[in-house]
Formats: sequence, C-alpha cells, structure tokens
Amino acid sequence: MKVYDMLIVGGGPGGYTAALYAARAGLSVLVLEKLSAGGQMALSERIENYPGFPEGIDGYTLAEQMQAQAERFGAQTELAEVLALDLRANPKIVETSEGTFYGRTVVYAAGAEPRQLGLPMEQALVGRGVSYCAACDGAFYRGKTVAVVGGGDSAAAEAMHLLPVAKKVILIHRRDTLRATKVYHAALTQAENLEFRWNSAVTELIYDGRLTGLRLKNTVTGEESSVSCDGVFISVGREPATALVSSQLSLDKGGYIVAGESTRTEIPGVYAVGDVRSKPLRQVVTAVADGAAAVHSAQSFLAGLENTDCLPE
Ligand code: NAP
Repeated sequence: MKVYDMLIVGGGPGGYTAALYAARAGLSVLVLEKLSAGGQMALSERIENYPGFPEGIDGYTLAEQMQAQAERFGAQTELAEVLALDLRANPKIVETSEGTFYGRTVVYAAGAEPRQLGLPMEQALVGRGVSYCAACDGAFYRGKTVAVVGGGDSAAAEAMHLLPVAKKVILIHRRDTLRATKVYHAALTQAENLEFRWNSAVTELIYDGRLTGLRLKNTVTGEESSVSCDGVFISVGREPATALVSSQLSLDKGGYIVAGESTRTEIPGVYAVGDVRSKPLRQVVTAVADGAAAVHSAQSFLAGLENTDCLPE
C-alpha cells in the first residue's frame, strides 16, 4: 500500500500550488482532480488581476501551466472523483472513483460551485436557456436577448462578456446598487444594449421546452412583472464544496471550512486551501497563497513540530 506524504483534493490554483511547493520540498504528492486542472479558474476567459501577466491570461492556460509546473518537480495527478474521506485515520484515507488512496497529510482544495437560485425547473433547464457560465455558453446567444442575475463582480463580468455577443443584456439585481467593483460600473452603465432591472428578484422561470422568460417581483413594491429572454446567466455567488468533510471539520455559517492563514484545520495534518476556506477574499492570488502556506504547515506536521508552526492565525 503506497502512502503519499500529501494527498491534494482538487486541482485548482490552490491545489496545484500546494503540489508545486510539496514536490519541490521532496514530498511525494498526488493531486486528485475530477475533470481537469483549474477548477472555477479554468472557466475564466481572462484573468487580469493575477500578477505577472500584464496582458492578462485565460484561466484554462494558466491552469495547465500550474499543473505542468508542479509535475515538473514530480507531483502526480489522478483524474478521479473523490467520494469519501477519513481524515482522522492514520494514514488518512481518500476513496475515489478510481480506487482508495492513502496520505500522511491531506490538503482539501475542492473549491466552490455556482450557487443556484433554487427555482423550480432550474436544473432541468440547464443547457436549455439556464447557464452559470457566460464564458462557456455565451456564444450560443449571439444576437439574442439574455438576462444576468446578480450584482457582484461575477455578474458584472458575465454581463461584460455577453454585451458584445448578445443583442440585449438585462441585468437583474435584487437591490438598487451593484456590489461589483467600481471598475465595472462605468462600462456597464455606458453600454447601449444593457438594461438594468433594479430591486428585482426572479420568482419563476418561464419555459416552453426551453427558457422563454423570467417572472420578476419588485423587492421594494412587491409589484410583479415578466421579461422575455432566450437565456439567463445566474451569477449569485458560489457554494463551497464542503459536503464531503462537513461531518469531520468545523464549517462557518456560509459552509466554508474554519481555518486561519496557516490553513490548518482542527484535524492535525489536514489543511483547507482556496475557496473552501473561511476568508474575506476569494481570488486566484489568495488561493495560491493558501497552497504555499499549507505545505509550510504540513512540513512542520510531518516533522512532528506542528505546534511550532510560526504562521500567525
Ligand atoms: P458575491 O460577491 O458574493 O456576489 C453575489 C451577488 O449575488 C450579490 O450581488 C448578491 O446580492 C447576489 N445574490 C446572492 N444570492 C442571491 C439570490 N438568492 N438571489 C439573487 N441575488 C443573489 O459573489 P461573486 O460575484 O461570485 O464573487 C465572489 C468573489 O470572487 C468576490 O470576492 C469577488 O470580488 C471575486 N470575483 C472577482 C472578479 C474580478 O473581476 N476581480 C470576478 C469574479 C469574482 P447582494 O449584493 O444583495 O448581496
């Protein structure tokens, strides 16, 4: 039975940075990734706020490069879906679609999934007018009318992506101001084919085989209305992928794993990295920082010195 020094669940930027640091430190390391490297980052058409790329870089390419960099130093990747973990076992056990793996430490970097509105038929209409990713599906709506739901950076970025493609973009937000960074405001308000629907909640998906419109309710007046559209891009935040560890690790009220900057969890040898960790800012740059910190902590643990970890919490 092979026991790795480190098993990494999730091949996003945090996972592959942990793999890079661990492999360079001479640890045996295996990344368990369901699909392909990059996680949510791989879906970003352009990343402009990750230092070192003055013209920006697409998320898929950046992910491939992070994987290649880690593998150059000996990190391995297994394409497998993680099904269950026993984090208190010694060694720790990770059961996957491709078999069972054992590790002295586990870095849990499973990322986050798009949050759903929770409306009837929302999942059934995915691929038939409902989408969570403009970079993936925007091209299907050339010359059509689409709605974007949400008011954060993701919703703003989705709208920006759709503006040159769609005939019209309707941005639906439940309040009367965007949460998104100011950089988006001017561009969105100046766009000729963008219409804001402020103080509006989507209450129903209207469909006839595929999506044809949305039913809205004004969050201030209660007035109901509807809009016709060919597609809706739902961008209302993300849910951490923590269901598999929720019975073993403490989660905050948002469902994120409670861990400080050292990424250590309450189970020795288990580290929470990237978007799954409780933290104020979830970006590629903060995920990669977590990956490095996790290996620093894990090295102390493997040397029997975890409590002398010098990173402040
Ligand atoms: P977010 O900042 O949490 O924004 C979520 C938006 O969805 C908010 O406007 C929220 O409304 C709305 N919302 C939440 N639940 C809703 C519901 N059930 N119905 C209707 N609306 C709902 O999430 P995000 O935009 O995905 O961003 C996540 C993180 O990634 C943030 O830290 C963000 O800065 C970062 N990010 C950065 C960039 C970039 O370009 N630098 C791009 C994407 C993401 P309220 O405003 O009323 O709460």
